[in-house]
Amino acid sequence: MSGADLDEDDPFEEQREEIENPMKRLFLEYGSNYTGAAVVGIIASFFARILDLLPALMLGIAIDAVIRQDIPYAEAFPIGSGFVGPYVPDGRMAQFWLTVGIIAGSFLLSAVFHWTRNWGFNTFAQNVQHDIRTDTYDEMQRLDMGFFADKQTGEMMSILSNDVNRLEKFLNDGMNSLFRLLVMVVGIGGLLFAINRQLALVALLPVPLIAVFTYLFIQTIQPKYAAVRSTVGKVNSRLENNLGGIQVIKSSTTESYESDRVEDVSREYFDANWGAIRTRIKFFPGLRVLAGIGFVITFTVGGLWVTQGPPGPFTGGLSTGMFVVFILYTQRFIWPMAQFGQIINMYQRARASSARIFGLMDEPNRVGEEPDAPDLEVTEGRVKYDNVSFGYDEEPILEDIDFTVEGGETLALVGPTGAGKSTVLKLLLRMYDVDEGEIRVDGQRVQDVTLRSLRESLGYVSQDTFLFYGSVEENIKYGTFDADREDVIEAAKMAEAHEFIQNLPEGYDTEVGERGVKLSGGQRQRLSIARAILKDPDILVLDEATSDVDTETEMLIQRSIDDLAEDRTTFAIAHRLSTIKDADQVLVLEGGEIVERGTHEELLENGGLYSHLWGVQAGEIDELPQEFIERAQRRQARTEAGDDD
Ligand code: ADP
Repeated sequence: MSGADLDEDDPFEEQREEIENPMKRLFLEYGSNYTGAAVVGIIASFFARILDLLPALMLGIAIDAVIRQDIPYAEAFPIGSGFVGPYVPDGRMAQFWLTVGIIAGSFLLSAVFHWTRNWGFNTFAQNVQHDIRTDTYDEMQRLDMGFFADKQTGEMMSILSNDVNRLEKFLNDGMNSLFRLLVMVVGIGGLLFAINRQLALVALLPVPLIAVFTYLFIQTIQPKYAAVRSTVGKVNSRLENNLGGIQVIKSSTTESYESDRVEDVSREYFDANWGAIRTRIKFFPGLRVLAGIGFVITFTVGGLWVTQGPPGPFTGGLSTGMFVVFILYTQRFIWPMAQFGQIINMYQRARASSARIFGLMDEPNRVGEEPDAPDLEVTEGRVKYDNVSFGYDEEPILEDIDFTVEGGETLALVGPTGAGKSTVLKLLLRMYDVDEGEIRVDGQRVQDVTLRSLRESLGYVSQDTFLFYGSVEENIKYGTFDADREDVIEAAKMAEAHEFIQNLPEGYDTEVGERGVKLSGGQRQRLSIARAILKDPDILVLDEATSDVDTETEMLIQRSIDDLAEDRTTFAIAHRLSTIKDADQVLVLEGGEIVERGTHEELLENGGLYSHLWGVQAGEIDELPQEFIERAQRRQARTEAGDDD
């Protein structure tokens, strides 16, 4: 079966196609660490299945040798009669009890082997799953931010959870079924041939038919399942989107419009699913018919044989007991055969999943470091951007950014939205790497030092602060895990956060994050500032750190930020220009270029973009030159056309 693919609109198609033989890689790179468990599982599976076949065989033997007494006990064994001969006791009842003993023993022993098999396969599958998940996560964390912007987090989640789980399912259930199938085919097939070659051919007649039937079924159902998966995706995105935007829906009273849209996607899912169900519910009855035909033919031929001697072209003898064994075994043959298709299906899905996983692991798009990179050593905290150019995609965003911040100084970045201010800072943090030029901290190129040391030296307070699940204290301590409660409170006080934290239901132990107490934007921002204060970094990076707080709080925080920035190199992006009035240097960015630079006073005197922005914020809108307003309008139009967020 070719890779008639399961995930049609797979976002990782590109990478997946580059991965050759992902299953081989899975077994070599991950499976090989747990070969012992896998071998134990395989051997135990073999014995468990063989033992499972024993009771039916013993029943046949008992019918022939004990109940009807047609054949001597040892000779009733279709194979190994020479081996059992010496151990067979004389006397009917003794032989009866021997049979009971063998059947009981085989059940007991088989239970032990089943346990061992499950232990082996599960140990193998769970460990491989665990290793792959943690490795994939580690690799994913090292990808550059561009990767996260392109591939949505939903897709990452899907790889880390669905794909990894699918692998586990194959490694456990799939391999289990595969070995059962092998043992059944070889074991039962072999036994049937040993008992009566001619009748075996009759009994196995439907097997190729079942194989073809199953194959056709899988071919038909696969595209239908793909359609189901794709519509499930649509339903989920629609629901997620609507739940997220419920406030907008309510306020614009578009409930019925949205209900219709949900109904539409749900109907699509219904139709797709119904298509798959129609095919699926035909399969098992179809299989039953095929199996039934086989059963009837075997029963007829075998029955005639036992009652009247070999029918038609057949020759030789068939005992009643062995006829019973035939009937029982043929029955047990059918279902593992029917699972054959499912195993192939599981294998293909696992193959696609491991290709996606390895695709993610091999994604080259990452900010890396040399294996023997030294740590960054901050002495003065001098940061130099040397003709830096950068673009997220092909399109350049920053051009020829060139400036130096002396140790301990504060550099402010101002300019209209979309000018590239945040991007300048992201390059320092190495969320992305520059395309041209270089960034140096105390003479060391940021690409040459370890990422860890670089980011540890930088304290980043951003405009959208993310809180992790956990208490307020844990969130402040995030990254400075050895801080104690007093340090945390000290930092919170400096960030003007202590007061509101005390008013939370459980103070510093209050759970926040998505599942916990909701904090306002300003409160989150203050926690983030406290986090930076606690970290006590060499270089402070403030990306509109106070954008979300009211003017009064801003004034208070500003004081503590000023204290914090006092003796350390600080980068500050601010919309409210009053907050950066005292900066040692102000860079005005527009369209990715530095258009003005100087101190607040110098820039005001210049009468350029900065002085106009200042004018706007001072409320002197009437005094602005017409040209400035027109430029702002053009920019606005560009931003709105360019991105929709
Ligand atoms: P500012 O901080 O001055 O508002 P940014 O540095 O955030 O500006 O953005 C500069 C430009 O880069 C904008 O045009 C924005 O749309 C674009 N941009 C920002 N982040 C990304 C990203 N992850 N991928 C692609 N383009 C981006």
